[in-house]
Amino acid sequence: MKTFQLTRATDNAQAVAAAAKAKTAQQGAEIRFIGGGTTLIDLMKLNVEQPQMLIDINRLPLDKIEALPDGGLTIGAVVRNSDLAHHPLVRKNYAVLSEALLSGASAQLRNMATTGGNLLQRTRCMYFRATDMPCNKREPGTGCSAIDGANRSLAILGTSADCIATNPSDMNVALAALEATIHVRGTKGERGIPIADFHVLPGNTPQRETVLEPGDLITHVTLPPPAPGSRSLYLKLRDRASYEFALASAAVVVTVADGKVTRARIALGGVGTKPWRSKEAEGELTGQPASEDAFRKAAEAALQGAKPQSENGFKVELAKRCLTHALKLATQPA
Ligand SMILES: Cc1cc2nc3c(=O)[nH]c(=O)nc-3n(C[C@H](O)[C@H](O)[C@H](O)COP(=O)(O)OP(=O)(O)OC[C@H]3O[C@@H](n4cnc5c(N)ncnc54)[C@H](O)[C@@H]3O)c2cc1C
Ligand code: SF4
Repeated sequence: MKTFQLTRATDNAQAVAAAAKAKTAQQGAEIRFIGGGTTLIDLMKLNVEQPQMLIDINRLPLDKIEALPDGGLTIGAVVRNSDLAHHPLVRKNYAVLSEALLSGASAQLRNMATTGGNLLQRTRCMYFRATDMPCNKREPGTGCSAIDGANRSLAILGTSADCIATNPSDMNVALAALEATIHVRGTKGERGIPIADFHVLPGNTPQRETVLEPGDLITHVTLPPPAPGSRSLYLKLRDRASYEFALASAAVVVTVADGKVTRARIALGGVGTKPWRSKEAEGELTGQPASEDAFRKAAEAALQGAKPQSENGFKVELAKRCLTHALKLATQPA
């Protein structure tokens, strides 16, 4: 690991100004904020990331979870994953978020990991971490080792000829189904970014993963009020029951009235290059009876555009079954 300078930020504006001196906020950034460090320090030890300066944001006043006047919720960027998962309002109104967080990593990691850091966690594609192998995301233009290599755990939706890496976060999938807004403070002031627009598809610039610019500090995340009568759930399928990333997961928020689905918000994890909101599945399901047949049709719609690679064709059916089962569980009588 190369030497770096560490500075502790005590004021949001000071943190933004310091980070704005970087040339990029994407792969290869010279200046990085540090939250829990559970992604960043690992990558620095492997020389995948080599920032010259780290700005510790843990003392910034961004550690609150509070109800909003409209019934929604605001979550500070340095709120720990475990505090968020166990917060009474999250458990009551946003079960899908609590379940997604608790399905991720380990208790120790969740005690360190922050909301902002989780939003920006990096892919687990093995070649991204192997500096002796070509990887367009780590070193643009070198090639993608995964396309003809070990790609069992990688994406089948939103891929490109340059990168097929999965966004590994569980939390992000729940936030996509909850239609969260990511609030950022940058050099030009504050702005809110719908989560659907926050992460970008790899295209031919896989080193660029989000719309963030140098200096952009995630300050908080807001959730809209829960839809009346809705139920939500996160289902994660993986190789072992804990301490493992999703092969396929589904976050669902559904409302059923008189036996019919009146509203559905659906996102998939473990299969997309970004947290994968499926408006196709939502459209297929809305207005239909809350039946297994309708759930399966929604799942077929969600995976219609899937492009499996040499080792991950099984994910197409796995993701369909995952979504079908999640919808079944979420609509069962209480
Ligand atoms: C062994 C292991 C298993 C794991 N398993 C899972 C799993 O099953 N599911 C899952 O979802 N995750 C899993 N994770 C990933 C874990 O959830 C993330 O490492 C964690 O959420 C990152 O948060 P952090 O605060 O530690 O981020 P950091 O490492 O501090 O930061 C990550 C990135 O975000 C940037 N950043 C941090 N905060 C801000 C901010 N406020 N504004 C702008 N930029 C910011 C940093 O500069 C850095 O680039 C696992 C991790 C490990 C090590
Ligand atoms: S899938 Fe993406 S991260 Fe993995 S080797 Fe290819 S370019 Fe790199």
